Amino acid sequence: MPATNSEIDILAIAAHRDDVEQTCGGTLLAMHALGLKTGILDLTQGESGTRGSAAERASEAAEAARILHVDTREALDIPDGRVENTHENRLKIAAVIRRLRPRVVILPYWQGRHPDHYNSATLGYEACFLAGLAKLDPSTPPHRPFKIIYASLYADVRPSFVVDITPYIETRFEALMAYRSQYSNQASGAGLFVPQEEIRERMTATARHYGLLAGVRYAEPFVQKEIGLVADLMLIPVQSI
Ligand SMILES: [Zn+2]
Repeated sequence: MPATNSEIDILAIAAHRDDVEQTCGGTLLAMHALGLKTGILDLTQGESGTRGSAAERASEAAEAARILHVDTREALDIPDGRVENTHENRLKIAAVIRRLRPRVVILPYWQGRHPDHYNSATLGYEACFLAGLAKLDPSTPPHRPFKIIYASLYADVRPSFVVDITPYIETRFEALMAYRSQYSNQASGAGLFVPQEEIRERMTATARHYGLLAGVRYAEPFVQKEIGLVADLMLIPVQSI
């Protein structure tokens, strides 16, 4: 049953503005198409990036949110490049979870190159736990998400499942390209950033790879810690031979 009022069904939490666009933007589009309410919580504001100011990234993030059809997007003020699993940070995220009351939370995978990414996984998980404690803040009712899944596109790990994003691959690319300060071809950081045309090729190739694993064209990968539960063997998707 879809959520009502300001509550949402699915909340994607990530360290940086544009992480969600890269790892699970197609999935948010697919869930929106199913009639679900989606949201994004960026933990930082991007003030340490090589390119663009935090203000530029805020307006780009708002544009990307519009393209992804999310119902809400907000950013916390955790320092960019210093996402740490502290009680203070857990409280900030828990307050958002209690207000938005998502059933599903998408976190980054817990291993990776960028410390902000893997730190966000544990920080986000512990914030979800904290959000369910009644005594945390008597003025807001407790809420613990039913399901936590990890967007694993950045990580070299076999996903538990993938989401078919075939109809949304172009829209997801548009959402990423909303970050003009990051992805338009320019001199600043040219050795560090890949040209726009290569981003398209990488994004498409990765989505195609995960799609092939499940017999669809384009997909995004996720890991869940829990086991899968099946009620009807006749309805298990993905052909074996
Ligand atoms: Zn990032």
